Amino acid sequence: MTDEPYIIFGSPIITQAEIQSVVSTMDSCWIGTGPRVHEFQAKMAAYTQAKHALAVGSCTAALHLSMVVSGVGPGDEVITTAMTFCATANAIVHTGATPVLVDCQRDTLNIDPRAIEAAITPRTKAIVPVHFAGRPCDMDAIGAIAKKHGLLVIEDAAHAIETEYKGKKVGSISDLTCFSFYVTKNITTGEGGMVTTNNPELAKKIQTYGLHGMSADAWSRFSDKGYKHYAVVFPGFKYNLTDLAASIGLVQMDRIEPWLRRRNEVWARYEAAFADLPVERPATPEPNTVHARHLYTLLIRDDAPVDRDTFMGELHRRKIGTGVHYRALHVHPYYRDRFGYHPEQLPNANWIGEHTVSIPLTQKLTDREVDRVITAVRDVLGGR
Ligand SMILES: *Cc1c(COP(=O)(O)O)cnc(C)c1O
Repeated sequence: MTDEPYIIFGSPIITQAEIQSVVSTMDSCWIGTGPRVHEFQAKMAAYTQAKHALAVGSCTAALHLSMVVSGVGPGDEVITTAMTFCATANAIVHTGATPVLVDCQRDTLNIDPRAIEAAITPRTKAIVPVHFAGRPCDMDAIGAIAKKHGLLVIEDAAHAIETEYKGKKVGSISDLTCFSFYVTKNITTGEGGMVTTNNPELAKKIQTYGLHGMSADAWSRFSDKGYKHYAVVFPGFKYNLTDLAASIGLVQMDRIEPWLRRRNEVWARYEAAFADLPVERPATPEPNTVHARHLYTLLIRDDAPVDRDTFMGELHRRKIGTGVHYRALHVHPYYRDRFGYHPEQLPNANWIGEHTVSIPLTQKLTDREVDRVITAVRDVLGGR
């Protein structure tokens, strides 16, 4: 139906600059964890205005490690949203703690602070808010609940590297914040993640527990300063990032702001183009916040000519990739069966999970591709 190439959902931009950066790292022979990782950490700390940034192999590792260093374990409960990627809750399960999934708000798709408050028990140890699509959660309300009940806040900022909340960068707000550099995220290292914190003790533990529980990393052990003994202080994990990955991230970081501007342009075109369709569009951002524009989601209303899955099939036929972010976690077999959730227990997440679709929103999209997406969406949804 079109001779034009398939628009792959979430395809990253990789230029000669990234390639040359990796090549020069390979030439240096420091391909494991070394100077490039340290540089990447410093750059992320500066960008997020956090005191410490520790690189890890993924956001999943970042979430797991953040909980372990905070002492989350068996017998504890951790509250998070059902409207998230499975990694958020899987990381809780891996600590031995119980994930307590609560509902999201119908309009913002973010965790509902009232639902958090209602789910608190004497076993609650932490709250894991997820800044859905890059829109900041209500951190004032969440911070107040955490303070009142003595709980940790660990933010899942996989979508939210550019996000700001009332003048503060995400990464500098809570106890710990976890970022992702997975291929489809706003910037990528192939695979990668970062934990930021203002707490020097947590930072030290992240570094140690993230690399076997050894007291010093390989770079400082085998540098030209001579061999140093290490001491194992905890049965840690192999969660370190490589210099190869960091050398991609260092280049991508310089593009964060122009890329966000481009996604803002695409977002504005979608907003104008879909106003008359039988869909719910993303909620308008709150004043005094920066939305990271990671996903543009449409909720296909019940009075639309097609349902969500048919819509996705029709876009695929027009060579446009789409995604679902997310089918609610509490309806997935593991969470449903192990913890006994019913779909209607979290009605917003359940409804959104059945009706939501994400259309392409990356800096890579050309104006011509945006035209194609708009034409296809309007065509399938009966727009004239
Ligand atoms: C992508 C994602 C993760 C996992 O990130 P990885 O770096 O792939 O481990 C976690 N949470 C959310 C909300 C995500 O979108």
